Amino acid sequence: MQAKIVVLAGDGIGPEVTDEAQKILDKVGQRFGHTFAYDPQLMGGCAIDRCGSSLPEATVEACLQADAVLLGAVGGPQWDNPNAPDRPERGLLGIRKALNLFANLRPVKVQPELIHASAIKESVLAGTDLLVIRELTGGVYFGPRQEAGAEGYQAFDTMIYTRPEIERVVRLAAEAARGRHKKLASVDKANVLASSRLWRRVTVEVMQEYPDVELEHVLVDAMAMHLIRRPASFDVIVAENLFGDILTDEASMLAGSMGMLPSASLGDKQNRHQLPLGLYEPIHGSAPDLAGKGVANPLATILSTAMLLRHSLGLEAEAQAVEAAVNAVLAAGIRTGDIADPKSEVVGTATMGDLVAAHL
Ligand code: NAD
Repeated sequence: MQAKIVVLAGDGIGPEVTDEAQKILDKVGQRFGHTFAYDPQLMGGCAIDRCGSSLPEATVEACLQADAVLLGAVGGPQWDNPNAPDRPERGLLGIRKALNLFANLRPVKVQPELIHASAIKESVLAGTDLLVIRELTGGVYFGPRQEAGAEGYQAFDTMIYTRPEIERVVRLAAEAARGRHKKLASVDKANVLASSRLWRRVTVEVMQEYPDVELEHVLVDAMAMHLIRRPASFDVIVAENLFGDILTDEASMLAGSMGMLPSASLGDKQNRHQLPLGLYEPIHGSAPDLAGKGVANPLATILSTAMLLRHSLGLEAEAQAVEAAVNAVLAAGIRTGDIADPKSEVVGTATMGDLVAAHL
């Protein structure tokens, strides 16, 4: 297969971790006979500095022409001025909108070798392997709002969902569950919110098309508890935007380190392989405290490339090979500083990439 991948390395440790991810993709290409062509583009703080915009038009054009987009991270203290006309995060929101990405997928798999790195008890975490899917384009973040006036008395935000917005993300979640352990937990607050009652009704309707997938409705407050009490009992979890925003961060803490967790954002645009044109990125930020030191953990970005291979290129065996190579390196006791324990061998960013590539 030939594939064109736009690389938005971004700021801080972004370029360091995307370099390692490309190293892994090159190795996958070599081993499985694929050609991956990379198209580096600017987004975030580096784009503000070079082009005066966090999301240059050329970047959007290149992403729309690509088979998939790989992103490092954006942002840093030098662009933190709240009065600046543009900010790195605007680039991120802009590209999500331009690619119409409506679902964010965050798998959380607790690796036995890293179970000690989590704040949760090992007996609770054992066997945790879940996928949280957050709706990205609707809900309270995008509904009508009113700021408090000068008197600061009242303000409001509005949670709005339409049937098609719910249908498409629930369908995507049901398909994902079908490829996993065939269990879907749909999160809502149907006992209080009208938008949640629509969410639940549409979910029940869509799930009639998936009789092989077991459906459970969980109230969001209960889910916040269950995630830390019985995380291993869930397979795929789907939630609207605000609930998903909070639950994905909570779920990410199960795994212990930000440096380990990948994500994918998928939409309704297809690439030339008739697969979703997705954006793949680690869940962590640009870690300005580590930038330029060669110590950042590249595994979240490397695991994001596994998601890219799986979802945008349909290369499941290749995706599994990348995940197996990461597991093999961890099993050998190799760690970056953020996940190190007294018994491990600590390596830097590039060496970690080399070792994963060698295992491939
Ligand atoms: P962060 O994720 O960058 O860092 C939080 C902590 O985790 C830091 O101690 C950092 O050193 C550590 N960390 C993060 N990634 C790591 C890795 N790969 N290996 C080892 N340790 C790692 O979050 P922050 O400090 O809140 O934000 C820093 C900047 O990143 C801000 O400008 C923020 O706006 C931006 N940010 C960007 C994204 C994105 O691009 N998607 C997401 C979150 C934050």
